[in-house]
Amino acid sequence: MKASSDREGSADLAESIDGLRNGVSIPPGPVLLGACVTAMRERLFHFVALIALLLFSRAANLSAATAAQQTAGNWTVGNQPARLVNGSPVLFRVTTPKPVRALSGNWLGHEIAFSFDVSHRSWFALAGVSLETKPGTYPIQLHAETASGQSAGQAISFEKKIRVERQRYPRVLLKVPARYTAPSPEEQRQIEQDKETKAEVFKTVSAGREWKGSFAPPVDAAISDVFGVERVFNGSVESTHQGLDFRVPSGTSVAAVNSGRVILARALFFEGNCVVIDHGQGLLTLYLHLSKFSVKEGDEVSKGHMIGLSGGTGRATGPHLHLAVRWQGVYLNPQVLLKLHLP
Ligand SMILES: [Zn+2]
Repeated sequence: MKASSDREGSADLAESIDGLRNGVSIPPGPVLLGACVTAMRERLFHFVALIALLLFSRAANLSAATAAQQTAGNWTVGNQPARLVNGSPVLFRVTTPKPVRALSGNWLGHEIAFSFDVSHRSWFALAGVSLETKPGTYPIQLHAETASGQSAGQAISFEKKIRVERQRYPRVLLKVPARYTAPSPEEQRQIEQDKETKAEVFKTVSAGREWKGSFAPPVDAAISDVFGVERVFNGSVESTHQGLDFRVPSGTSVAAVNSGRVILARALFFEGNCVVIDHGQGLLTLYLHLSKFSVKEGDEVSKGHMIGLSGGTGRATGPHLHLAVRWQGVYLNPQVLLKLHLP
């Protein structure tokens, strides 16, 4: 079984043995040259007439030309972190040449909805780069409609190329009991049922922004396993660790990493008692192996709100908290998200 062939399947598998290791410018005019004074005067007249005509036509098109120049000149697009790698979340910050009603973008095949932040006078969106993204340069395409003035409702767009570098993640060889890699037929049925539940939950993409400010760690504890580790089990089965493990004993209070809505709070085969929070803009956080729920599906939570107690439910080899971050179908590195300085 190859991890790339079934990302969800391998995510399940990873959890099955989780916790194992603890301006407008005038174009240049014709150059005025001539040997004969008469000819020169004639040319001068023609030149002046040409300039006058040019200025007149320019004035007629001034508003359109100005808009075009501003579109090309005054967009700013910033990304945090500045160095992007495969597996990284990213905050895009955009300013537009004039006020716009709404701003949307396209990045690595995903639609991005930006939200305006008044205090920063900028548009922000959280997005990400999948683990599978190859190093290279990728465009972010921005589309907006102007909000006010004579050109209200005018469609403007911009594109910036952004570099994605290669991040190499560690690869570890592990030996585990066969039951971890070969579930019983009954277990298989529950796994299949869970797959449907998760597929439904993971489809959630709320365009609006629910997150507010920087993300905070869910527990105050050491990290026992990082994101992106390639695990090879018993020499054959491969999977990628698609979350971040915190070393916590059972019964430790687990907090929501940011504001959002609880879209899943139930027991799953691999994940154990699992909470999923929708933070808007396609961003979800997952909390696995809990011993107790403190929230239910549909609850609104704010950053720091207790969602449950840590544990070792599901297929974990010992108590710990597995935190995962999903953005529009891809798992992202939680450690990078926790370090971002957000508005
Ligand atoms: Zn884990």
